[in-house]
Amino acid sequence: TAKQQGRNRFNYFAPFMQEATRARLILANEMRDALMQNQFRVLYQPVMELSSGKLVKAEALVRWQHPTRGLLCPSEFIPVAEHTGAIVGIGDWVFRQAAQTAKRMQVLHDKNFQVAVNGSICQFLEGGFNVAEWLDYLAELRLAPNSIIVEVTESLLLEADHTVVHKLQALHHAGIALSLDDFGTGYCSVAFLKRYALDFLKIDPSFLMENDAGADLCEAVIALAHKLGIRVIAEGVENQRQQAQLQAAGCDFGQGYVFSRPITSDELDDLLSSVDKPINIHRTAC
Ligand code: C2E
Ligand code: MG
Ligand code: MG
Ligand code: MG
Repeated sequence: TAKQQGRNRFNYFAPFMQEATRARLILANEMRDALMQNQFRVLYQPVMELSSGKLVKAEALVRWQHPTRGLLCPSEFIPVAEHTGAIVGIGDWVFRQAAQTAKRMQVLHDKNFQVAVNGSICQFLEGGFNVAEWLDYLAELRLAPNSIIVEVTESLLLEADHTVVHKLQALHHAGIALSLDDFGTGYCSVAFLKRYALDFLKIDPSFLMENDAGADLCEAVIALAHKLGIRVIAEGVENQRQQAQLQAAGCDFGQGYVFSRPITSDELDDLLSSVDKPINIHRTAC
């Protein structure tokens, strides 16, 4: 399997290999030691409560500080990590970082602060993360499980076999919050929203109202989610017009460049300290 392959080094390249394939194999090789060499970083993107303008949550987004290639965005290495199975180790590490940050923000600023992590399908299969280990870590930190949100995609729910469903249920029963990421880009049926006891639904940026029809659609999704007891986070909110429309449509939370780019945990701490200042941090990194 792909996961077993990931445990072997790829130390030669057949001449017929495509350049892109070679590049991926090199990256997969380099990734094996990246975790031990502490090359991964986690940035946190603020999530605002739209009604109050308060910063109440953040999403953990991984980066790879590559020794020669600079700071790599998830799109440049997560697919490789998923293919080799390295995502399991990376995901566990991101989870622990996220939990530490949630603890720090709760102690310093807001006892209800939540941090979200992204989940890949491989993490939910056999050999993926261990729910009991995650819960032990939270207990060690004295962090309530509902301080953590696990984001999954529609395709993960669609592909869900019994192992995946079992883990989703275990997280839910432990009190960890579940969020459906990138909603509107896949083929999730409304029935899924109810079946998986979701706490949050994240509306994909591609779904945001560019016109009246889009606004109606957004409003309908928000109303439907609320009917099912699910709160809505709009992603990729880039301008004040979108922010105002979402607020008018009853959307609960917003995340996007109009509020802040992904930032370090120290910057998050600063941001939460400067409650009086309007939040507007712009960084050029991915
Ligand atoms: P996502 O979970 O949907 O995360 C939102 C992405 O949108 C992030 O990209 C974020 O930087 C970007 N974004 C935020 N606000 C705006 C905006 O206003 N406009 C636009 N155009 N984009 C915005 P990023 O950090 O590059 O992450 C990309 C994807 O990589 C994430 O999408 C997520 O699916 C995945 N990812 C990130 N971290 C992890 C991780 O630790 N584990 C796993 N499995 N996947 C991860
Ligand atoms: Mg996400
Ligand atoms: Mg998303
Ligand atoms: Mg995504």
